[in-house]
Amino acid sequence: MPAIPREPALRIAPARFPDDTDDFGALLRDEAKARDYLLDLAWPTGEPYCPRCGNHRIYTLSGDRLRCAGCKYTFQPFSCRWINNGALSPAEWLRLITMFVDEKSVHEMKEEIGLSYNTVYKALTAIRFAILAHAIDARQLISPATGLDSYLNGNRLTGGPREMRMDTIPVYGILRREDMVFIDLVPGFQAETLFHFHMNFHLKLIRTGNLIYTDRYKDYDALMFCGNDSLPYEIIRRYDEPPHIDAVGDAFWDFARDRIKRFRGISCQRFPLYMKELEFRFNNRGKPLAGQLAAFLCALVPSLD
Ligand SMILES: [Zn+2]
Repeated sequence: MPAIPREPALRIAPARFPDDTDDFGALLRDEAKARDYLLDLAWPTGEPYCPRCGNHRIYTLSGDRLRCAGCKYTFQPFSCRWINNGALSPAEWLRLITMFVDEKSVHEMKEEIGLSYNTVYKALTAIRFAILAHAIDARQLISPATGLDSYLNGNRLTGGPREMRMDTIPVYGILRREDMVFIDLVPGFQAETLFHFHMNFHLKLIRTGNLIYTDRYKDYDALMFCGNDSLPYEIIRRYDEPPHIDAVGDAFWDFARDRIKRFRGISCQRFPLYMKELEFRFNNRGKPLAGQLAAFLCALVPSLD
């Protein structure tokens, strides 16, 4: 039976995050207030500490720089944190977060915030990584098994995705527990495994664009992956009966299916970022998200060692 991942989260969400109904709107227009708000999330006790060694004995240098008295690391307030990826000001970050919560398109965000498409796209990637890094199975996901590790160069999102083929595209499973969903990396399964099960064991495969999903498999409501043009889609048979997840009217699948179609820039490499975003949105539906996302962004990028 596929266990719900027991890997500890890399970073635990801060115990407190401001209620979004607080005057979040004022922060969006005031750089100084926005910066104070984010600094408060980075240093919850109000005292700066070294992002490398955790030492609280810190010297202030000229400009925005700080130095650790222990390991001598020189850093800036947001060094080594997800929010350090991208050239946005504090108020721009908060505006981007509120638009992300509202599920605006990249084009709408870029128009509203007055930044380039690439700048917005990169900042959104940082938000998605920050969400994924707070998932219970983050350590499994930021690894060679998914290829997400190749995006990280130290604590910076500067790497490029590696090419993926049939034997390296990872497979994810949808696990439902009451009103929660877990998107689980299925260890040892690749796109090839599902084609093999389809051909030899009649596992139903459904294709919509590059999204491939299956009928029920063991405890999973469905297995799925995002493919690319290297895959033999032509061998997928057609069915009269819909697969389990389409037939049962699953609340998560109803929530996710149209959103997956609307995502821009989805690829086999980025697929887990989008699926963990949907897991987060679904499991926190009805709750305020902006403060939580700001806290995730201000968390340290975990070390992969
Ligand atoms: Zn240090």
